[in-house]
Amino acid sequence: MAPEAVDAMLPYLTSSGNFANAASSQHSYGQNAASAIDNARSEMAHGLRCNPKDIIFTSGATESNNLALSGFTLGHRNRGKHIVTSAHEHKSVLDCCRHLESQGIKVTYLRPSGDGLLTIDSILNAVTDETVLVSLMHVNNETGVMQDIGRIADALNEKGITFHVDAAQSAGKVPIDLSAMPIDLLSLSAHKFHGPKGIGCLYVRKRKQAGLTPLFYGGGQEYSLRPGTLPTHQIVSMAAAFSLACERQEADAEHCRQLRQTLRTVLGKLDGVHWNGDQNDVIPHIVNVSFEDVGADALLIALRDNVAISSGSACNSGAIEPSHVLRAMGIEGDRLYGAVRISFGRYTTAAEMEQAGQSIGEAVIRLRKWAAE
Ligand SMILES: *Cc1c(COP(=O)(O)O)cnc(C)c1O
Repeated sequence: MAPEAVDAMLPYLTSSGNFANAASSQHSYGQNAASAIDNARSEMAHGLRCNPKDIIFTSGATESNNLALSGFTLGHRNRGKHIVTSAHEHKSVLDCCRHLESQGIKVTYLRPSGDGLLTIDSILNAVTDETVLVSLMHVNNETGVMQDIGRIADALNEKGITFHVDAAQSAGKVPIDLSAMPIDLLSLSAHKFHGPKGIGCLYVRKRKQAGLTPLFYGGGQEYSLRPGTLPTHQIVSMAAAFSLACERQEADAEHCRQLRQTLRTVLGKLDGVHWNGDQNDVIPHIVNVSFEDVGADALLIALRDNVAISSGSACNSGAIEPSHVLRAMGIEGDRLYGAVRISFGRYTTAAEMEQAGQSIGEAVIRLRKWAAE
């Protein structure tokens, strides 16, 4: 976490600060907690250029994605029973779609091209009279490939189709201007921008709130779309982390571009290196790379005590299944089974990057030598 986000959180945990329930509107302690939440909501809205009333706090992007997909689709099932998404989405979207299929909703899973990009035509071609929602991620969590959500939003808006964006990997890292982009629903998660885990939000454009069905029922918080006592400390901390990320956006991106270049230079000295995903429409902090004749499993085991990288997203790495993201891009064989995902950020130093690159390179050379013997 950003130290600033930790500092913002601490006063809301102890009796010397304000630990009151924001829904306790009869005393000033509760009112102060509510106003801290109001401020945080405004800070989030300022970063996204949207109305604070359109922010609904959730436990993270998994919940936001579920609320958007399930909540919107089931709330509008009398209008149509079809949604469009893509095969390279995060599991919180794909598994939710599987659930919706069991509820009688039809889902089209678009396949990206070999570089991970979707075309506007393929999206529009998948839309039918029955389509109530299109849900696409902004930046892919395994490859870093970035879709042009502004252009997609314009095209869908022209057809009157509701558009949800999973922005967990992009929020705070690239500009997202909801006043200029006709996006209807947008998910984000605080721990992806140096905030705490277990908190996020769903942006719901006002005119879309009516048809949204909540995932659960309770005390009426968040317009009853997400009831439950609000975690003041998490919310305030997320807002501090988000403001900082927006403020430092260009500096952080430049730092990550340099780290990426360092890594590419070090690993580029090896033979048989494949960079997966488009290398232009990509966020700088994620690299996905395969090394010929080296399995990802062996490489990760060789590195496990000094370089924290993975063969897929963190959410999937318990499973030995190869990446569904690379598969959706049509990548197969050694390149699929050898792919590793490397990510870094604001607090990664050039020396750490250099060292990680060296360690990975040495492990690749060692594993190739063993295989040849
Ligand atoms: C991390 C992530 C999520 C889920 O976020 P949680 O904080 O685990 O709920 C969803 N989508 C994408 C693209 C992510 O990277």
